[in-house]
Order: sequence, then C-alpha cells, then structure tokens
Amino acid sequence: MYDVWQNALAEIEQQISPANFSTWFQDTSLISTQDGMIVIGVKNTFYVKQLRSRYSSLITTALKNNNVEIKSLDFEVKSPTKNKSRSREITTPVDIKKRIKTIKDSRNTSLTTNTGLNSKYTIDNFVVGSNNDLAVSAARSIIDSPGDRYNPFFLYGGSGLGKTHLVQAIGNELLKRNPNLKVFYTPISHFYSDFIDAVRAGKGKEFNLKFRKLDCLIIDDFQYIVGKEKSQEEFFNIFNDLYQLNKQIIVTSDRLPSQIKTVDERLANRLTWAGAFDLQLPKFEDKCAILRAKAELLGAEIEPEAIEYIAENVNTNIRDLEGEFSTILLMSEVRGLTPLELINKGAVNVNRPTKLPSISSKQVIEKVAKYYQLSIKEMCGKSRVAHIKTARQVAMFLLSKELKLSTNKIAAEVGVKDHTTVMHGIKKISTDLKLNFTLRDQIEEIKESIYG
Ligand code: ADP
Ligand code: MG
Repeated sequence: MYDVWQNALAEIEQQISPANFSTWFQDTSLISTQDGMIVIGVKNTFYVKQLRSRYSSLITTALKNNNVEIKSLDFEVKSPTKNKSRSREITTPVDIKKRIKTIKDSRNTSLTTNTGLNSKYTIDNFVVGSNNDLAVSAARSIIDSPGDRYNPFFLYGGSGLGKTHLVQAIGNELLKRNPNLKVFYTPISHFYSDFIDAVRAGKGKEFNLKFRKLDCLIIDDFQYIVGKEKSQEEFFNIFNDLYQLNKQIIVTSDRLPSQIKTVDERLANRLTWAGAFDLQLPKFEDKCAILRAKAELLGAEIEPEAIEYIAENVNTNIRDLEGEFSTILLMSEVRGLTPLELINKGAVNVNRPTKLPSISSKQVIEKVAKYYQLSIKEMCGKSRVAHIKTARQVAMFLLSKELKLSTNKIAAEVGVKDHTTVMHGIKKISTDLKLNFTLRDQIEEIKESIYG
C-alpha cells in the first residue's frame, strides 16, 4: 500500500508546483483501498477540505494509473505514523493482487534517487510507430554516441505522448551501457526550486559545479521555465558549459522554445541547434501496437477485437490509452469475463471524452466560487476586493476558454455590466498566467474539479 501511494505521489508531484506538493501532500498516507473505497490519511480537517476540493481528481487519476480500483475517495485525519501500524492490507481479489504485482514487477519502479531516473522506462518497452519513429531513431543514436550528432536533443509534444518515457529511457540505457556515466534527470520545476534553495543556503556555486560534472543532463517539461529569469540564466550557463564539453543535453517541452514567450532568444535558438523532434498522437495501428506490447508485458489475455475497440475509442493520448486498458483488464478479472465479453455487454464505457462537452456555465461558476471559498452571489457581485475580483476574472476566463462563450454571454453569466469588462478580465488572466505559477496551478486544479 505504501508503495502504491509513493508511486501515486510521484505522479502527483509531476503535475503540480513543488510548493503545492509539499504543502498538501507531505504528510499524507493511503489508509485503505478496501472494496475500492479509498481513504487517504491527512494532518487535520483543514487538509481534508482542501484536498477534497482541490486535488480529488488528481489523486484519483494517480491511483488509477497505479492500478488501484476506485469507487469512492475519502479523507481522514490521521497522523502518518499511526497509519502505518493501523494500515489494513489491500483487499482486492487474489487474482487482481497478483496481476497488480506482475504489473509492478514488470515495471520495476525503483527510483534511483541520485540520477532522478525511474528504471521502469526502457527503450525496449517504448513502442516505435509512425508517431515517434524519427525521435526514437535519434534517441538510439544518442544511446550509441552521446554528445555527438543530436546534441542538444530537443523533444516536444503534447501531454501523455511519451516524452518522459523516451528521455528517461535514453538515460537508463546510457547507464546500462556505462554505469560510470553521470546522468541526471530533473523536471525543470525541480531544477528551479533546487537552485533557489541552493542560492538561499549560499551554495549556488556547488549547485553549478554539480551540474557541470554531468555527462548527460535531462531536463523535462521545459515549458515551465516561463518567467523564471534567475533559473533560466543558471540553466543557460550550465547548458553552455556542458555543450562546450560535448556532454549530452536532453530537453523536453510541450512546445517549441520559440513558442515559450519569456525564454531568452539565444537559449531558445541553442536548444534547437541540432533540430527539434516531436511526438505525435498515435494512429490507430500505433495504438494497437502499444496495447499489444502492454498485454504481452503483463502476460494478459486480451482479444484482438478488444484491443481494436480500445484503440479506436481512445483518441486523447497514450496515458489515457494505458489507463483504459488497465481498467478493462481489472474489470474483466473482477467480473470473470474476458475483455471482449465485457465490451460486448456494454459494461465498458471507453467512448466517453476525457473532457465532458456537456459542462454548463453554472457548473464552471460554481466550481470557481467553491475553489475560492466564495458564494456565487459574492463572486458574481460588484465587489472590487482583489481576491473576489480575481475569482470573477478566472470564471470569465474559464467560460471563454472552456465553453467558448461569447463575451456578451459571459457578462450576463457573471453579472458584469458589459463585454469590455469581460474582455479585460480574460486578458488579465491570460497575461498573469504567463508569470504567475500559483494562478496557473489554481486554474489547473479548478479545471480538474470541473472535469474530474
Ligand atoms: P509525457 O511525458 O509526454 O506526458 P509520458 O512519457 O509520461 O508522457 O507517457 C505517458 C504514458 O504512456 C507512460 O506510461 C508511457 O510509458 C506510455 N507511453 C508513451 N509512449 C509510449 C510508447 N511509444 N510505447 C509504450 N508506452 C508509451
Ligand atoms: Mg512527462
């Protein structure tokens, strides 16, 4: 149970800011998963409330990704030490337990802390398809000859398409071939917070030296560098030093550097000196190939028609594809039916879009007000108090971006005078988002609560 929660936490940590992560998740534990009723232990009632409203769907997704069956999610006040002794075993049916164990063993999710790498990501279990073949061949070339032709290696693409997997696989493979190499993987957000900590502790120089000793530096999710001038400068220096020493640099991002507004132009150019490789959405055949590979890895029996059904119906990304696949496998264990029998019985609902198009403006307004702990009346009123005004503007922003409502319609929904106020509000939030990471997290969390 401890491991499952640690794995889930590792995923959550990737999704939110370091500050939010340590505030909200530091002393949490998984108390029970009995019959799919998940109970999370937290410090005090304040945390219950906050975690429930802000992070329920993030927690659910992370647990699902770790093959935990979830029917409900609850929070209880418990100190973490007490939990450990009282924690009950996972009471899933024996077969599922075995299956989960197989999944975990096959992933071998040990984190090698000093490299930041997770050994579950290998090049052998990265399925090559038309969506990623160029990137994979560059990756293989780096594995054979790091610091050479593809340096820096810049990999970009949407969420859940395999960026982290592929770059970690390069790191793991380099180490397998030469255990003496110094390889280090870090999301840019951790680079940033570690840098700030080091500077505060008067250890900026050590920080720089540590990085300059590396043979291969892997930076994930570079898009989050936005607006962090000091860490950008530090990264730029480290980049130049490593580059000059022919050390391999690998950077991922959800978009090209030139599309990240506040990135120094010289750095943006340098990052793509050796080209930029992208990961695309997988086509039908690619998705089938990925699912077949996962089934083989798990030793799971699944009919080709079931694979095709999942491939045809999940059109978002590979993370979701895997998620549906695991859910169907687990459901088939529980119900004692094969995956195809389940599908034919209509027991599987893969076809739901990840984002419900049927969200109403009322729901959006309610969620925003709830998030900021305001009543709808307060939020959609005339108050000029800063935090209420921000909440109102966030509501305008989300109504525009998520529901594509016209500014006139939004004005009516949030009770402001005219559409120019709405335009101003949306623009304000869009601009603030570029620099304000707390706001960015908040909006992500509100969206999670809307769609979760
Ligand atoms: P990103 O970093 O782009 O958001 P990830 O690397 O986390 O995406 O990938 C999401 C999930 O999909 C991971 O579990 C990863 O192992 C899996 N995945 C992505 N691409 C492939 C692939 N080509 N073959 C096998 N698994 C893949
Ligand atoms: Mg990633």
